[in-house]
Amino acid sequence: MTAVSAMKPKPHPKYKRVLLKMSGEALMGPREFGLDPATVARIAADVKDVVDMGVEVCIVVGAGNIFRGVSGASNGMDRTTADHMGMLGIVINALCMQNALENIGVKTRVQSAIQMDQVCEPYIRRKAMRHMEKGRVVIFAAGTGNPYFTSDTGASLRASEMNCDLIAKGTKVDGIYTADPFKDPQAKKYDHVTYMDILTKDLKVMDATAVSLARENKIPVMVFSIREEGNFARVIQGEGSFTIVSDKAP
Ligand code: UDP
Repeated sequence: MTAVSAMKPKPHPKYKRVLLKMSGEALMGPREFGLDPATVARIAADVKDVVDMGVEVCIVVGAGNIFRGVSGASNGMDRTTADHMGMLGIVINALCMQNALENIGVKTRVQSAIQMDQVCEPYIRRKAMRHMEKGRVVIFAAGTGNPYFTSDTGASLRASEMNCDLIAKGTKVDGIYTADPFKDPQAKKYDHVTYMDILTKDLKVMDATAVSLARENKIPVMVFSIREEGNFARVIQGEGSFTIVSDKAP
């Protein structure tokens, strides 16, 4: 043990198995579209920090940085076809995340809800469980595999199936606010909200299907900023700034 590592405080993660949900835009960094390699590498390093604490981590990404079905449909596309394109965008992001994690020595598997054997594994729950028990990061791609759903719903679904004890939703802000903090300087951050608050106050956190699924399966959702380096490790230890969504305040 080096002098430096001896000085490092022992991590104290509060969760055993966590699903990290990020929108596709999180991987975009300062760009207008697509993937920013430096941002993806930084997020991968943040994930590694949490894996190194002994936390089992799985990941769901969206595809807002590439394509969203609703915007395709609003431009006259068939909605199902547009959603298929959105789900394929998610696969692109998942492979990018996998590559960045493996570059720094984190073992990963991508499992897709849409079968594409030459590219990645199909989603098989028991296999995914096994991977996670072995310390591999499983990246769940292609959302739920069905059109008319969102990647947030895919995240709630996989977190339920994997018996995760937290959905960590990494966003561009450090929690849930009374109003959009980018537009309203008076907006106040909540430390805790209930699932019902999100639905009744129409807080723009996750869509209703995703929230209901998390609620039914009693999985808390932690909203935090994925933009700050080292933040994922901080919030997993209950430190730093975030909002918790659950039935009762922690
Ligand atoms: N999508 C889908 N079914 C799913 C998950 C996602 O059809 O189960 C499609 C849908 O078109 C969506 C796109 O994939 O717009 C990208 O997902 P999302 O919009 O949730 O991405 P994010 O906003 O998280 O980047």
